[in-house]
Amino acid sequence: MTGIDSLRNVLELECRKGYTDKAVIGGLDKYLHKQAGQIRQSLVLSLNEVKTKELIPQLVSGFDELNLANSNYGSYGMDERERWMANVFGWLDKIEKATKTNRRQESVVSSQESGDRSQKTGDRSQKTEARSQEPGVRRQETGVSSQRRREGLDSPITVIRGITPTVANKFAKLNVRAVGDLLYFFPRRYVDYSRRKPVSELIVGEEQTIIGKIWEAGVATLGNRKGTEAIVGDKTGNVRVVWFNQPYLAKRFRTNARVVISGTVGLFKGHKVFESPEWELLEDKELIHTGRLVPVYPLTQGLYPRQVRKWTKETVDDYAGQLSDFLPSAIQARCQLLDLPAAIAQIHYPDDLAMAERARGRLSFDELFLLQLGVLARKRDWKEGQPGNAFHIDQEVINRFLQCLPFTLTQAQERVLQEILTDLKQAKAMSRLLQGEVGSGKTVIATLALLIAAANGYQGALMAPTEVLAEQHYTNICNYLSRVGTQEPGSEPGEGTIRCYTGFLSRPLTIALLTGSLSNNEKERLHDKIKQGKVDIIVGTHALIQKEVEFKKLGLAVIDEQHRFGVLQRSALRQKGFNPHVLVMTATPIPRTMALTLYGDLDLSVIDELPPGRQVVKTKCLESQDREKAYSFLHRQVSNGRQAFIICPLIEESEILEAKAAKTEYERLSREVFPDLKLGLLHGQMPGNEKEEVMRHFRAGELDILVSTSVVEVGIDVPRASVMMVEGAERFGLSQLHQFRGRVGRDKEQGYCLLIPEKLSPEARERLRLMEKVHDGFVLAEKDLELRGPGEFFGTHQSGLPDLKLAKLTDLHSLELARREAITLFQSDPNLTKDEHQPLRQQLSRVWAGGAEWS
Ligand code: ADP
Ligand code: MG
Repeated sequence: MTGIDSLRNVLELECRKGYTDKAVIGGLDKYLHKQAGQIRQSLVLSLNEVKTKELIPQLVSGFDELNLANSNYGSYGMDERERWMANVFGWLDKIEKATKTNRRQESVVSSQESGDRSQKTGDRSQKTEARSQEPGVRRQETGVSSQRRREGLDSPITVIRGITPTVANKFAKLNVRAVGDLLYFFPRRYVDYSRRKPVSELIVGEEQTIIGKIWEAGVATLGNRKGTEAIVGDKTGNVRVVWFNQPYLAKRFRTNARVVISGTVGLFKGHKVFESPEWELLEDKELIHTGRLVPVYPLTQGLYPRQVRKWTKETVDDYAGQLSDFLPSAIQARCQLLDLPAAIAQIHYPDDLAMAERARGRLSFDELFLLQLGVLARKRDWKEGQPGNAFHIDQEVINRFLQCLPFTLTQAQERVLQEILTDLKQAKAMSRLLQGEVGSGKTVIATLALLIAAANGYQGALMAPTEVLAEQHYTNICNYLSRVGTQEPGSEPGEGTIRCYTGFLSRPLTIALLTGSLSNNEKERLHDKIKQGKVDIIVGTHALIQKEVEFKKLGLAVIDEQHRFGVLQRSALRQKGFNPHVLVMTATPIPRTMALTLYGDLDLSVIDELPPGRQVVKTKCLESQDREKAYSFLHRQVSNGRQAFIICPLIEESEILEAKAAKTEYERLSREVFPDLKLGLLHGQMPGNEKEEVMRHFRAGELDILVSTSVVEVGIDVPRASVMMVEGAERFGLSQLHQFRGRVGRDKEQGYCLLIPEKLSPEARERLRLMEKVHDGFVLAEKDLELRGPGEFFGTHQSGLPDLKLAKLTDLHSLELARREAITLFQSDPNLTKDEHQPLRQQLSRVWAGGAEWS
């Protein structure tokens, strides 16, 4: 084995051992110091095999720059070790690429020698083999080859030079495993280093690029730590460049080397200086870190921007050409979209911002288009695939129920009821989304639908996202039923969770509550009853879709607060019955186009009217100096037997910080402001059962004030709550503020919403003023979109929404375009059977096969 090979073996072992310096006894440095001479000799020998002779000086100087004879690996921290390793592997890969014949066999032999060599080494030797058989496939060191590689897009990313198994593990955390994933690993943004300037014209404070010669470079003490300092000049002048904490760079910068520096120019003691800029030696390669729009990737610990760019560039150059364009050319032409390989290349390394935008346009079209097609197919499969159960609508039953209600239905409720009844009569399963504000009376309508199912001899299920909400629905439905029928007393010992009503249908009607907190015994008993068809209506949480729950004859499934449930849960519940009717309810107002996309497999009904006499929650936007007044207002309300919520500011992207802040606020309020009242705390970091417990206490009136983060339940009903105070109000979207205030004023007493902003910009003031004037959730949702722009609309948590990398659901224009094209295509070839649609069909099944990611 040559010195180079053994070096590679040792280093790969060291990578596998997690950079612990355990690959060789006595440490890596000792080995390197001793072996450096021999490695250099084997290098010199292998140079005979290098085909492109011009590369030789670079290979040798590359080796000398590594300075293995004086390595200092043992003294490095983990990050530095990794960086050092990447550097050496970079060089080893260059050698491997430059030499081809003979080395292959040695490589194969050596991989047999050590049984536990990494996967990667195996791949490498195969790769070398493949290449040596097909010399034409080799890629030149400079220039970019458009030749295809042998490896397919499904190969693990370790086929890319320099991606060690350790690195691959880090990429796996970002869901990047195969070469194809890396192509679809998009930059978050770009830094514009395309503006090149002569040194004399550099402007302080701007991002600029210079190309010049290194006059001198060396290790320097910057602040009190070691770094690298260089003087770089062109014909017009020179400028100082420093890199903090990166002394190892010094040896990369040889005097007179040509270098590209990109970054922001600062001032130090009156002189211009680049501080830790991006840099790149100007060889004959295309620039990837400087002098252009440079991609910025989402990174995980231990992945360095320079490495990642090197890898994405290589992957794009070598593999993007392998992507077959699945989009029918007619659509591409009509929508003026880039072809797929070009779009992928341009999204990573765009020629300019306009091209980046076009690339984004094409790729986000793909996402929305595939989403729409999938959704349309689901709707078709659902509707036409299997027959549903046509219910007989007994007007008697409906009238009896309606007559017992203490109110008459609103016009909107009437209309929606008719839409639902029309669906239920069909021998096709209903698939309907019911949108309506909190308190608009959705539950009454759902209850009626459940009763009709029962009257037809079918079971009905109502699924809510939390136990508290499920309990609430159960209580409400029981209340409605007790007006119509008589509750059978003591029919069941655990009567809290199962009740029976007579006098409504010609037979007794049984309703049960199924949640995770039932004892195993109770659960089993309930499961049995459900299976035997002894329960007509089952209200519950996720517990309803567990495997153990078998229905005898599920005819209708109602799902409340859809945005908490994904497509998958929806279909899980569907599969519990023989194609049951499905009614989904949500109180989150969503503009129509968006709803059609997200819930495109559902028909849409809207209750756009509140019951008469419903009070408007008085809303006031205060200044922070009014906080004390607000507190005394809360205190007075509590003294009058009311309850209050205090919502803590939203902290984007960190539930942990948010929880901490809420806890601090809760403690402060308990100690300093309301020492005489009973306060509760609710935040997203609490375990589910604790959250439920706190909500229960609050609902039962055992707490006066609930201090909460934004997790406070949508749809929760606390009749005595009259004040909603929101801190940091400007951080929330209007829709969310509207949801918050829907929590109070649920009975006859006046409800109040106090908005306290932290910082009040004129724009924020205008937004919050709208809350004082507008009380229609749909109008506020549209305003939200208009004012806050796309992306902000849903807040940070989009559970239940598909994972879209580039497309924005709030980009209504793209959404409509994709939907139109999807519908057109669907009409002409619904099963995608035409030849020209085969690639699309495959892509569709690929995207939707990862179903878990779509919910
Ligand atoms: P949602 O589920 O849409 O939040 P609910 O069905 O729970 O609304 O109704 C909220 C409250 O309004 C309940 O107390 C209900 O009894 C009452 N309600 C429903 N419909 C009407 C109506 N048409 N007129 C008056 N009150 C109604
Ligand atoms: Mg509700």
